[in-house]
Amino acid sequence: MIQESSNGSKRMSTVELKRLPSFDFKAGGKETSSVDCAVCLENFKMGDKCRANCRHSFHVRCIDSLLLKTPVCPLCRIDKIVREEK
Ligand SMILES: [Zn+2]
Ligand SMILES: [Zn+2]
Repeated sequence: MIQESSNGSKRMSTVELKRLPSFDFKAGGKETSSVDCAVCLENFKMGDKCRANCRHSFHVRCIDSLLLKTPVCPLCRIDKIVREEK
């Protein structure tokens, strides 16, 4: 059973976004990596804030603006990036 939130909205607030897990990218000693952000297609650099709840990785600043509109991964479109926390 999936319960909708009381206001019926699937949109995320910035407060909810801040609760999503993120991490600082570490490229194993290298300055950059071969891993790209799937939104802006730039390589991740040391210290970049990233999110990766599915097999895709994003800059926090890139994915957050998308998640505010649609709370799913824009690539795999499954509702995996958002975890219901009650
Ligand atoms: Zn990006
Ligand atoms: Zn994905």
